Amino acid sequence: MSDFKPIKQSRVSEEVLSQLKEAILLGKYKSGQKIPSERELTEAFQVSRGVVREAIRALEITGFVVLRQGPAGGAFVTDLSFNHIGNAFLDLFLANKVSIPELAHVRYYIEPEVARLAATNAHKDDIKRLIEAQEAEFLPVTTTSARIAQFQKVHVIIAEMCGNHFFEAITKSMMRLTYEIVEAVDPDHKALHMPGEHGSIIDSIIEANPKAAASAMAEHLDKFCASLIKMEKIYRQKVAIAV
Ligand SMILES: [Zn+2]
Repeated sequence: MSDFKPIKQSRVSEEVLSQLKEAILLGKYKSGQKIPSERELTEAFQVSRGVVREAIRALEITGFVVLRQGPAGGAFVTDLSFNHIGNAFLDLFLANKVSIPELAHVRYYIEPEVARLAATNAHKDDIKRLIEAQEAEFLPVTTTSARIAQFQKVHVIIAEMCGNHFFEAITKSMMRLTYEIVEAVDPDHKALHMPGEHGSIIDSIIEANPKAAASAMAEHLDKFCASLIKMEKIYRQKVAIAV
């Protein structure tokens, strides 16, 4: 019987994974939709529950789905275009292959262009979202992560407004890295970012002034990125201790 090699369970799981990925990529299950349950997939693929579980876990790790607990829970399809790039950048960063100064450098050059495009393409609804996000910056928050999310909101909305999905994906992934760093270092937030600091950027976008929006964003990032760069050493020390 030496002609045969035993089939590893992981191979079966890979096959299940590849079919699930294909179904998601072909749009059979769209962003926000739930994929079939473990039991349903076990029946459909005629494999063990462990195999299905392994495939779903791999889908989660690669950013295709998020898992939610509870009676209405399950594996929900994510917004693929952004999560994939974000995950890839985060992996590079965690592996120490991308430094904080490199991240800051890219933010400094990309986001003014993103703001310029946002001022060119702004719609009424976008402006409303921007103003709401700016007002929300002044609301009290109790956790570091809520505080970071509060300040990132304006950057994220501007990226969503810019009309270039590639810029949007890059900006969102840079926000994710920034979030990771600031949350770990937990610096003095008053020194790092104050509520209302995006005022001149938002005003320029409302006035549909692309040039002013770009220079206001550059000015904002000049200050913010300088603080971010200083966090490199302390961030790596903290991560090294945590590991
Ligand atoms: Zn900001």
